[in-house]
Amino acid sequence: MTSTARQRVTVLGSTGSIGTSTLDVIARHPERYQVHALTAHTSKETLLAQCLAFRPAVAVLASERDAEWLRAELGQRQQVTEVVAGPEALCDVARDSSVDVVMAAIVGAAGLLPSLAAAEAGKRVLLANKEALVMSGALFMQAVARSGATLLPIDSEHNAIYQCLPSEHRGGLARHGVSQLLLTASGGPFRTWSDAAIAQVTPEQACAHPNWSMGRKISVDSATLMNKGLELIEACWLFDATPDQIQVVVHPQSVIHSMAAYHDGSVLAQLGNPDMRTPIAYGLAWPERIDAGVEALDLFQVARLDFETADEARFPCLPLAREAMRLGGVAPVVLNAANEVAVEAFLDHRLRFLEIGNLVEEALSAPIGGHADCLESVLSADQRAREHAAGWLKRWSA
Ligand code: NAD
Ligand code: MG
Repeated sequence: MTSTARQRVTVLGSTGSIGTSTLDVIARHPERYQVHALTAHTSKETLLAQCLAFRPAVAVLASERDAEWLRAELGQRQQVTEVVAGPEALCDVARDSSVDVVMAAIVGAAGLLPSLAAAEAGKRVLLANKEALVMSGALFMQAVARSGATLLPIDSEHNAIYQCLPSEHRGGLARHGVSQLLLTASGGPFRTWSDAAIAQVTPEQACAHPNWSMGRKISVDSATLMNKGLELIEACWLFDATPDQIQVVVHPQSVIHSMAAYHDGSVLAQLGNPDMRTPIAYGLAWPERIDAGVEALDLFQVARLDFETADEARFPCLPLAREAMRLGGVAPVVLNAANEVAVEAFLDHRLRFLEIGNLVEEALSAPIGGHADCLESVLSADQRAREHAAGWLKRWSA
């Protein structure tokens, strides 16, 4: 590949776990990729280091004050990166006409508008931000279809399923001979803990995942199994599946990243070391394959693969998410918003681990109805669910 054919990449959330892994893969292939924009919420020092290493055209921070600081630091080093601030700037760097690829790796609902902007602009969208799809699955998939965007899932399970499905898989799984999607789950760090021990879990324990190193929010979601619930919803949208067509399989080794079962009895699986650089490299290079810096899987060292069902009574967030998808409308928006409020409160020591599920369940029973067919009603449901959850928290701690 010549330098003129280099793909221009925007990395939304470049300072996070997925963002830094993305830059690690990009750095291995300077002849293929060039960074257009990098964005961070508040981690300005990390963003400065990334700007010096990757020389993007644009850098985005949340506040104008942080942007001013970064401008001054880059100016002192004679670097010409335009530094801008605010949520609209995130959408601008996602839809910029010079951009080919957008890595959507902002965490939570904050990633919705820029991820959607990339989809609407017809980019190759590498979607890590699962909350965007949970909130606006119908709108997102319509935007992709309308614009001709290429949507490649980065969540390791969905990336695995994508690799196990025929290249054209829209229009319902049955049409393609697929009977079920098998969504693997590590089971999180508390799979084998007693109920009494789980009741005392601290944020530090919840963020220490046995197999994956991830941001704090998704680490807590993995521990409650809400992550698997969000992924179930994500899979429904990505693969035109119903919740009943998706079976969660607890697989503690995290070597099989998910599977597709076919009507003829075949089960296709994708395996690999648990390292997000594999799905990221897949998304960047698809349909080609490139080095991701990931060690080859040593099956003899893995030695055995175990499987069990998920304990939905002990981890109610998973059935709550399935129920929200079955209910449809804005129920997944409410689930996601209440979960974000609950996780933040847990990380701040304002809510106990087991109360995360209680708060989500309570929010789902609140009278927040509506269709999820326009962005305004999605954003309004998100707002109302957050207010409801915050009110519950206030009463709870009073
Ligand atoms: P992280 O917390 O490590 O990073 C989040 C990034 O988003 C940071 O760059 C941060 O600056 C930015 N950000 C946070 N809040 C923001 C806001 N309000 N506005 C703008 N930017 C903001 O998170 P992560 O683990 O990298 O996860 C990112 C996304 O990818 C999440 O949606 C997560 O569910 C998904 N994901 C992550 C993994 C993983 O292994 N980490 C795996 C699968 C999916
Ligand atoms: Mg995942």
